[in-house]
Amino acid sequence: MSSVFQKSAEALKRAEKVLVGGVNSPVRAFTSVGGQPIFIKEAQGSHIIDVDDQVYLDIVLSYGPMILGHGHPAVKEAVAAAIDKGFSYGATAEDEINLAEMIIGAFPAIAKIRFVNSGTEAVLSTIRLARAFTGKDKIIKFSGCYHGHMDALLVAAGSGLATWSIPSSKGVPEAAVENTLIAQYNNIETVANLLNEHADVAAIILEPIAGNMGVVVPTNDFLSGLEALARQYGVLIIVDEVMTGFRSTFGGAQELLGIKADITCLGKVIGGGFPVGAYGARAGIMDMVAPLGKVYQAGTLSGNPVAMAAGLATLKELKKQNPYQQFAERTNSLANTITAAAFEAEIPVTVNHFGSMISPFFTGQPVTDFQSAQTSDTNVFASFFWDMIKNGIFLPPSQFESWFLSTAMSTEDFSRLEQVVYQSIINLKK
Ligand SMILES: *Cc1c(COP(=O)(O)O)cnc(C)c1O
Repeated sequence: MSSVFQKSAEALKRAEKVLVGGVNSPVRAFTSVGGQPIFIKEAQGSHIIDVDDQVYLDIVLSYGPMILGHGHPAVKEAVAAAIDKGFSYGATAEDEINLAEMIIGAFPAIAKIRFVNSGTEAVLSTIRLARAFTGKDKIIKFSGCYHGHMDALLVAAGSGLATWSIPSSKGVPEAAVENTLIAQYNNIETVANLLNEHADVAAIILEPIAGNMGVVVPTNDFLSGLEALARQYGVLIIVDEVMTGFRSTFGGAQELLGIKADITCLGKVIGGGFPVGAYGARAGIMDMVAPLGKVYQAGTLSGNPVAMAAGLATLKELKKQNPYQQFAERTNSLANTITAAAFEAEIPVTVNHFGSMISPFFTGQPVTDFQSAQTSDTNVFASFFWDMIKNGIFLPPSQFESWFLSTAMSTEDFSRLEQVVYQSIINLKK
């Protein structure tokens, strides 16, 4: 095949022999948009470059972590300095305290923190902790919310198996999900019903802004209802801010939305592109974790000094730049552009956005939960995706992933994004 994707095609052939599906995480295989994935050789600032030397404005941003764009000088400098002092110690170092203090300062609901190596690891630790704290076993999660790939939460995790406790993956025994109850996002009745039926619910876990079914924003009534029910039934609220932490404000979406987390999960941005996750809560909960308490949780590379340095430099830079107002203005403007183009092209669209996260859904319905998200025409999305790629914009290769903005995106980058999005939607007109 002679195409602009020649070298990606060659890389795919090699990759498929030695990596499962040629990738290390499924969405990278581009399965839901068809065609073959692009392979990357480099990323700088607001752009990412494939092995065929095509340059894209990057809206994927490693699915969230690269909020400063790629290779930010301050982060590079911090990482280089950290590497100079060794790679891993197996004992606590000062940057772990520094990063913990910085996060705790930004999250009123967190008094103590534990660092781990991924969002998945953070979430699975909090489930164990919530069960230990309450002495109860069941967990309520919302259809379409993704919390990493631990067994118990691979139910209705953004795939077709939306409404009941059926594992979304082979290899997950039914016993592993029998304590997982599924409610509908933005539907407080479904939560109330579950709490009525089951006496042994330990926690409700949610994405405060859902980002793994495309962006879905909670209503105020839904969140205040959740909180009231949780207090009434003695159930903990686990707010999974792996995606939203430090993304829409310096701190959590929980402050912006006014929901009180009992336990908070973090990841992505707090590692600045390195493998970091974290969970935190008030001391009365966190002190149950070993070595103070009887909830065991450990990690050889947890609090890795290079990753801590990257996270710390990233958060310092975010605090300095305070880009959140501009993020919100830009997604607002982008939403208007998409809506205007779709109107002209006579294509139904619903755009959801919050802070630096945005998703267009190709549907005429409001998108408020997983079911309505699924009314989006994914074939239209696939055409749109490839048109954007052709015009030098790297979007997430799935309808059900959020787009992200970075601080590295210049005014020119952003107006080019708006122009290309506009034209690509016009091009969808039959
Ligand atoms: C990405 C994500 C996770 C999983 O984090 P990993 O680092 O990929 O394990 C968990 N929860 C949410 C909300 C996420 O967006």
